[in-house]
Amino acid sequence: MFCPQCGKENEAGARFCGHCGTTLVQPANEPAPERQPVPEQPVTPAEPVRIVDLTRADAGVSPGLKWGVIAASVVFPIVGIGMGLYYWMRAESPEKLATGKTWFFVGLGIIVFYLSLGTEQY
Ligand SMILES: [Zn+2]
Repeated sequence: MFCPQCGKENEAGARFCGHCGTTLVQPANEPAPERQPVPEQPVTPAEPVRIVDLTRADAGVSPGLKWGVIAASVVFPIVGIGMGLYYWMRAESPEKLATGKTWFFVGLGIIVFYLSLGTEQY
């Protein structure tokens, strides 16, 4: 920044002028309390308009929820089969063997269910 007293350049962040010794006012740190109310005012009126437009265009279903359900319905049976096979093959105890079989067949059943839904549409 430049010294307001003698006009010579000083390092950014310097508190005193290296040429004449004048106390330098830091423009970056001082106006912090003044900045806060400024951005809040223009943001608030703009946001509700956007939200209304998005929900109307998507017929009430948010795209994030839709993709979340699709991802969960695809990931869940795959994880179920993987976990089921893992416990089934290790067979550390009768309980884990039964749990593994249950997970495996539930996951398999969900995938077969989705496949049958997909083939019915074509
Ligand atoms: Zn100076």
